[in-house]
Order: sequence, then C-alpha cells, then structure tokens
Amino acid sequence: MARVFNFSPGPSALPQAVLEKAASELVEYGASGQSVMEMSHRSKVYDNIIVQCEAMLREVMGIPDHYKVMFLQGGASLQFAMVPMNLMKTGKADYIVTGQFSGKAYDEAKKYGDVNLAATTKPETFSRIPSQEELQLRPDADYVHICFNNTIFGTKYFYYPDTGDVPLVADLSSCILSEPIDVSKFGLIYAGAQKNMAPAGLTVVIAREDLLRKDLPAYVPTMCNYAIMAENSSMYNTPPCYAIYVCKLVLEWVKSMGGLTAMQAHNQKKAAVLYDYLDQSKLFSNPVSKESRSMMNVTFRAESDEINDRFVKETSAAGMANLKGHRSVGGMRASIYNAMPIEGVEKVVAFMKQFEG
Ligand code: PMP
Repeated sequence: MARVFNFSPGPSALPQAVLEKAASELVEYGASGQSVMEMSHRSKVYDNIIVQCEAMLREVMGIPDHYKVMFLQGGASLQFAMVPMNLMKTGKADYIVTGQFSGKAYDEAKKYGDVNLAATTKPETFSRIPSQEELQLRPDADYVHICFNNTIFGTKYFYYPDTGDVPLVADLSSCILSEPIDVSKFGLIYAGAQKNMAPAGLTVVIAREDLLRKDLPAYVPTMCNYAIMAENSSMYNTPPCYAIYVCKLVLEWVKSMGGLTAMQAHNQKKAAVLYDYLDQSKLFSNPVSKESRSMMNVTFRAESDEINDRFVKETSAAGMANLKGHRSVGGMRASIYNAMPIEGVEKVVAFMKQFEG
C-alpha cells in the first residue's frame, strides 16, 4: 500500500527523506558494523551522534550558550512533574491553562506547592489564548508555565507573555521546530519529540543554566534532577539512543529545507489553505478565535457527529489518515507538522469541497 497523508497529532509523520536515510543506515551505521539500535551509548560512534544532535538543535533553534540541552525520557507528561520538582524554589508557581495538557501540568504542579491559576480560557472551551492584560501573575512566583501550542484545541500563542524577572516555562511539544523561537525569552522549554522531531521515546528539555540546581528535596528521584541530567550530558543512564539519532536526521532535514524561517513560511502557507477554505465553508467551521489559530493543529467540524464520522471514514479510505478530532472534543483535526507536504493539505481541502458539494 502507498504511504498515506498522515494527519496524526502524535506520534506523527516524519519527513520521507529522513525515513529513507534511516532505512539506508538501519542495519549498518556507517562503517560501525552495527545498527544504531544495537550499539553502546558509551561508544565513540554513538557519542558522535548525540553530540551532533545537540549541536544541530543549538544551531537550528539558535539556543544561547548559557542554556543546557537535555535528551530525556518519560514524555512531556513527566515534565509536568519535573518542572515543579526542580524549579519551585520557594514553592510558588503561576500556570496559564489553555487546554488539556496545560491543565494536566497545573494539576500535577499542585502536588508540589502553591499554584496560582494566572488565567484560563476554559469557560470559552479553550477557543483562544488569553492576552497579556488578562494574566494575573505574581511577581514572587518561581516560574510561569504555559503551553505554547494546544494540540487538542488548535490554538497557539502569538506573543511571549511578559513575566518580568519570573522565568517563563513552556511546553512546546506540538510546535517545536515549526517556527523561529526566541529561546532567550524562556527559562525552560520542553517538548515530547514525537510530533515534530523524532519517534516517541525522547523528550527534549532546554533550560537556562542558572535555574538548574542539585539541592532538591530528598524525595526527588535522581532521574528527575535536571542538574544531574545536564551534568552527565543526558548519559546518566541509557538515553533513548535511536530516537536521538532520528532527531539528528530530522534536524539535518530542517536545516537543508532552509531552517526555521523557511519552516514557518511553509507551515503558514499550509495552515492558510485550510483556514481560508473553512472561513467560507457553509458545512465546516473552525471554533478558534482568528488571533489564536494554531499552524500545527487545525480543528474543524460539521454540525452533526454523523457528518463528522462520515467525513473521517471517507477521507481515511481516500488516503488521508487520522483526521478524527481528539476524543474529548470530537469533530476533526488536521495535524500538519513540518513533515506534512502542502499536497496533503490541498488534498483534504479538495475532498472537503467535493464532500460539501
Ligand atoms: N503537551 C502537549 C502540548 C501535547 O500535545 C502532549 C501529547 N499529545 C503532551 C504534552 C503529552 O506528551 P507525552 O505523551 O509525551 O507525555
């Protein structure tokens, strides 16, 4: 069967060129006589891979030298706990809840200290991102947590919240590498890699050096201590070796495509194809405020579940997979990360036109 256009929210499509390169090196990597999956993470050849992966990430994202890069496991969800365990120095943090994952991060943080809900758009079904003026931030909080792109509700920030001297912590799981980001605006960034970077199993953390400390409460597992992970260059234990290798290939691909500025232009173009159609459609609509629309996850729906189900079924049969919306919100969602070519988006829109009749 031919490869489909895969609109999965995560794990998600990887660039075809990356898959082909990985396939060509699957059994024997270079002259090593081994697969990357089989080699010691302490070997010279593997060390070269992880070092290059970090160097590529620094180059592509423009990560300043005073930030540490960590390749961890446990998914973005473990970061919901690691962030408060490591960064709650005085036990106070502010959370902006704009969707399911920032809600989970907020609930998890409450286990560790005094957590303030600085803003939420829950009463508006998370259909927009709050403005700076709406944020009730505390100047003495240890950090402010946001989710930069909401995978389920299809919203994104178009500004960096001004948190003064309080470090801004952001979940970039579903938008990392999709556009240039000013890393210096953040104290810490984390992302599950399975959408725009690599296969599942890898979580990337980028943290300002001065925020990392070893003197954490005794209950904090060693594996959850950023300072120890960073000091050991993500090699305290066995890292997710193969996912890091694929991440390196993805970063090389991003660079060869023109880097994050080119990715942003490509992603804006793709998203516009969908939103332009949705804005004039009589059958389908997008529930998100125009100023908060995600470039990565485009949500839409027709008025009945029966029509939505039929659309998902028919698109799937026509080679457009995983257009079903998240189970908590229903409808449809096209996740159009970097690896989705514009042809995939055009095919969905052509199908919508025909479906609408
Ligand atoms: N944050 C966001 C924005 C996500 O989209 C997801 C996963 N879909 C998560 C966190 C949770 O990630 P993981 O499954 O890696 O724990």
